[in-house]
Amino acid sequence: MYSDQDFEQLSAERPTSTGKSPEQVLHEVFGYESFRPLQGEIIHEVASGGNALVLMPTGGGKSLCYQVPALVRLGTAIIISPLIALMQDQVAALRELGVRAAFLNSSMDFEQARATEYALTTGELDLLYCAPERLIQPRTLELLHDASISLFAIDEAHCVSQWGHDFRSDYLQLAVLANEFPAIPRIALTATADERTRKEIAERLSLTEARHFISGFDRPNIQYRIAPKTNANKQLLDFVKAEHESDCGIVYCLSRNKVDATAKMLSQKGYTALPYHAGLPAKDRAHNQERFLHEDGVIIVATIAFGMGIDKPDVRFVAHLDLPKSLEAYYQETGRAGRDGKPSTAWMVYGLQDVIKLRQMLEGSQGNDHFKRVERQKLDAMLGLCEVTKCRRQVLLNYFGDQLETPCGNCDTCLNPPETWDGTVAVQKALSCVYRTGQRFGVTYLIDVLRGSDNARIQQTGHHQVSTYGIGTELTANEWKSVFRQLVANGYLRADPEGYGALQLTDECRPLLKGKNKVELRKDPVVKKSAGRSSGAKSGSAVKDQVTDHVGWEALRACRKELAEKQGVPPYVIFHDTTLFDMLERKPQTLDELASVSGVGAAKLEKYGEIFLAAIAELEPA
Ligand code: ADP
Ligand code: ZN
Repeated sequence: MYSDQDFEQLSAERPTSTGKSPEQVLHEVFGYESFRPLQGEIIHEVASGGNALVLMPTGGGKSLCYQVPALVRLGTAIIISPLIALMQDQVAALRELGVRAAFLNSSMDFEQARATEYALTTGELDLLYCAPERLIQPRTLELLHDASISLFAIDEAHCVSQWGHDFRSDYLQLAVLANEFPAIPRIALTATADERTRKEIAERLSLTEARHFISGFDRPNIQYRIAPKTNANKQLLDFVKAEHESDCGIVYCLSRNKVDATAKMLSQKGYTALPYHAGLPAKDRAHNQERFLHEDGVIIVATIAFGMGIDKPDVRFVAHLDLPKSLEAYYQETGRAGRDGKPSTAWMVYGLQDVIKLRQMLEGSQGNDHFKRVERQKLDAMLGLCEVTKCRRQVLLNYFGDQLETPCGNCDTCLNPPETWDGTVAVQKALSCVYRTGQRFGVTYLIDVLRGSDNARIQQTGHHQVSTYGIGTELTANEWKSVFRQLVANGYLRADPEGYGALQLTDECRPLLKGKNKVELRKDPVVKKSAGRSSGAKSGSAVKDQVTDHVGWEALRACRKELAEKQGVPPYVIFHDTTLFDMLERKPQTLDELASVSGVGAAKLEKYGEIFLAAIAELEPA
């Protein structure tokens, strides 16, 4: 993207550079062919001393945006990152590439911290990852003044925003960087920020004058699917079995109990499924995360406590058994699938109870009215995505201010367009049944009344005498459930905030009650056996599925696994699946040929080149 000449000019002006061009670093150190969209411009901006605010979806390649400038500029780059696990991973991966990287955080003892600080002041580090609470200590700031700093990178920058969804108070104090180090470039990065959050980031980190780089939110390799919940466990098992057998994935649940139960259920069915939630001892949590990162085909079942900073590139599916609270959360959680750009699935089942539960949690929460209003808007947007009858990706992207001109063709509503039906009369019946029975009953009871069930409770209450008794026999109980779910999702009914799931009318429903507005409802799809691939879905295990030479593939994986175990790092830190796949396709015979495989940089070539060449030489000819 930028010629060496451009770069020479640049370095002539600024004696801050190592003399290497960004392209050179990309090829030699990372072994990559070319920059991804926006990467080149961002890297040029920061390498030449500018500030930047970067918004790029997960998997877009944010790390390179500061790692390359860090190796182009002289001095140590300070990377502020809130998550210790992520730091350790990145540092391990960088060291594999021959980069001098280290971290400072609370996981290390005094000796280790001292040694790292010493390496910083003597200029022996290219990158230093640092937790925010550590960075803002006066002692650390003093050290930074003594050292030669090439740039500051603030990762997960949305944590500085109170409007956003991961606010961390330590992040607010990062304003100190602009004040104390005005001459050192700063780059802030995030994957999830609507316009308001972006503005807050820019203000709080003094980046309003900086160049803003905003890349689209689309993750075309992720297939979005949302289905009504019938039998969640069975639906999950069918999905995994049909489409992601032996793949690595994440299953999200709302409660700890459900996490434990789901992990147990999957294990009993023969899957390697591990629980992860804040109620587990730290040791078990770390162990399960470790296995998820290092072993193949592990499913982690987790509350939202899991995932931020999980960098694993080959997560093939993210399944939600409970509804997230907002589209931001949904986008972030599903975004953990398919960082490597290969086909992956974001799968969710949701039902009326989810809607009721979330609405109740929200109304019962401590926040002030403004907070609740914001949360309510966010939940409405989430529910809107669930009930939509057009392309889900268009709705999702639109929420983040991104336009997608045509339907995506890779979400369930595109692949199997849902039918709609005229629900005007049914809605009238449902709402008036709520009214006639005094707004004191839950959905099961209401359906019994509508369908004219002859049960003892109805006899007791006398509701067999109300005018709505037995007027709804044209629909099945499940169809009525779908009607009620859509009414709650669209805000015409609300769950009693006091609990018990009683449904009440809202002001919105007046015109519907009178039958004034025509109502189109979504027909819940009939569940076909093993939908997914056979129905033309594009999901599945990308790289693995493309492999034809299975023996060769397993041989290269075994070679990688052995090296990974020896180094104590996850296999993908040695080489990604895509790199192994490329090796298998091209069967390089010399180090030079191997160097041209994507993902093979100089350091890895030197360390592992001969070993992989030997393994490749053993393979059957194609
Ligand atoms: P993010 O932090 O934005 O989620 P990462 O920085 O982890 O994304 O990058 C996602 C994946 O893409 C990583 O495996 C990374 O090695 C790879 N990647 C990034 N930039 C390039 C590039 N220019 N060429 C090839 N692979 C790249
Ligand atoms: Zn679509």
